[in-house]
Amino acid sequence: ESVVNRIAAGEVIQRPVSAVKELVENSLDAGSTSISVVVKDGGLKLIQVSDNGHGIRSEDLPILCERHTTSKLSAYEDLQSIKSMGFRGEALASMTYVGHVTVTTITEGQMHGYRVSYRDGVMEHEPKPCAAVRGTQIMVENLFYNMIARRKTLQNANDDYTKIVDLISRFAIHNSSVSFSCRKHGVNRADVHTVTTLSKLDAIKTIYGISVARDLMEITASDDNPSQSIFEMNGFISNANYTAKKTTMILFINDRLVECTALKRAIEVVYSSTLPKASRPFIYMSIKLPSEHVDVNIHPTKREVSLLNQESLIETIQNAVESKLMNCNT
Ligand code: ADP
Ligand code: MG
Repeated sequence: ESVVNRIAAGEVIQRPVSAVKELVENSLDAGSTSISVVVKDGGLKLIQVSDNGHGIRSEDLPILCERHTTSKLSAYEDLQSIKSMGFRGEALASMTYVGHVTVTTITEGQMHGYRVSYRDGVMEHEPKPCAAVRGTQIMVENLFYNMIARRKTLQNANDDYTKIVDLISRFAIHNSSVSFSCRKHGVNRADVHTVTTLSKLDAIKTIYGISVARDLMEITASDDNPSQSIFEMNGFISNANYTAKKTTMILFINDRLVECTALKRAIEVVYSSTLPKASRPFIYMSIKLPSEHVDVNIHPTKREVSLLNQESLIETIQNAVESKLMNCNT
C-alpha cells in the first residue's frame, strides 16, 4: 500500500519545481502578500516556502496531509471552482510520501503558532506550540529520499534551481502585488526579488531586465460578441525589436499558471507570418474564463490545459496579436 502511495505521489510531485509550484499556489490561495522561497541542493535537500497568509487552524493540522484534504478542512471556499481547476487536495499529502514535511503556522489572533512534521500522510507527533509571527512556513526535506531512481535522474542541482527561479519569476509577474523572493540556502542575495508596489510591466523589468520590458506592447482581447462574453485576455507581447532564440510564453488562466501548446504555436505562427524577420516572441497573457471551460486533467502534472471552444478563442487571440504587430511594424 505504501509503495502504491509513493508511486502516485511521485506522479504528482515529479521534480522539486513541482513541489515549489504547489506550495506557492497554496500560499497565494491563503491571501499572502509576501512569499519567500529557499532552496538547497536544487530542492532535494530542502525546499522552504514562507508566507504571510491566513495560516492553518490547529484543528486542521491532524488531517492536513491526508489525501483529498480540501473537502475536510473548515476553511475551504467554492470547492466547485477549485475542483474544476483540478486541485484535488493531493499536493501536500503527496509530498509527505516522497519527502519529510514540516509545517509551522499561526492564524490571526493566536498567541502562538504550531509546528508539526508529517510522514506518509500522517503526523509524526502532536503539533508543538512555537513562536510564530504570521502565516505559514512549509519545509520539504530530503525529497525523493525513498525513490532512488528518481534521485539519480535529478543529479543536476543547478538545472532544478533554474527551473524554480523561472517558476517564481512567472508567479511574480502575474501576482505583481505580492512580493516574492527566491534564493539558495546559505546565500543572502536573492535570484528573484520583487516588491508589492510594482506594476506588471515593472515586475517584468525587474525580473527580465529593462531591455526586455522596453520591447513589449500591452495587449487585450475579449469576445467580439458581448452577449456571450465569456473570455477576457490581457498581457504583454514583444514587438519587432525584441530578440531571443526561443519563445517565452507565460500563461495564466483564471490565475493558474498553465501551459497551452496549441495557443503558443498559434501565436508563433502569427509572429513568423507578420514579422518574418523578428525573433521568437516574449508573451505574457492572463486569460479569464468560466472555470467550467477549462479542462486541466489531461496531464498528471496539471499544467497542460485544453479549453472549451479552443479554436475560436485561439483565433480571437491570434487576431489581436496580428493587429498589434501590424501597428508596430509601420
Ligand atoms: P489543495 O490546495 O488542493 O486544497 P493541498 O494539499 O495543496 O491541497 O493543500 C491542502 C490544504 O492545506 C489547502 O486546501 C489549505 O487549506 C491548506 N494549506 C496548505 N498550504 C497552506 C498555506 N500556505 N496557508 C494556508 N493554508 C494552507
Ligand atoms: Mg494546493
